[in-house]
Amino acid sequence: MTKCNFCGNKNVELRQTDYIYQHKGHYMLFENVPCEECTYCGERYYEANTLKKIEKEFFEVLNRKKVPSRKIEMPVEVFSM
Ligand SMILES: [Zn+2]
Repeated sequence: MTKCNFCGNKNVELRQTDYIYQHKGHYMLFENVPCEECTYCGERYYEANTLKKIEKEFFEVLNRKKVPSRKIEMPVEVFSM
């Protein structure tokens, strides 16, 4: 990628990040996901193959065909001012 589609900045960096996949009330956190991140606005771009693999693994875990590396607890709060 040569420029950010969101803000037009020409600097995007290869990075690894955390990615949360969400589907009908189920969540799965993926760590160390490769992406390109805009140095200006922070918009992240993932390769189609990366997203496909994430989706595949999410459904493997959801359908109990695969056991995740670990599980975490996540606090939940309803936002109010
Ligand atoms: Zn940007």
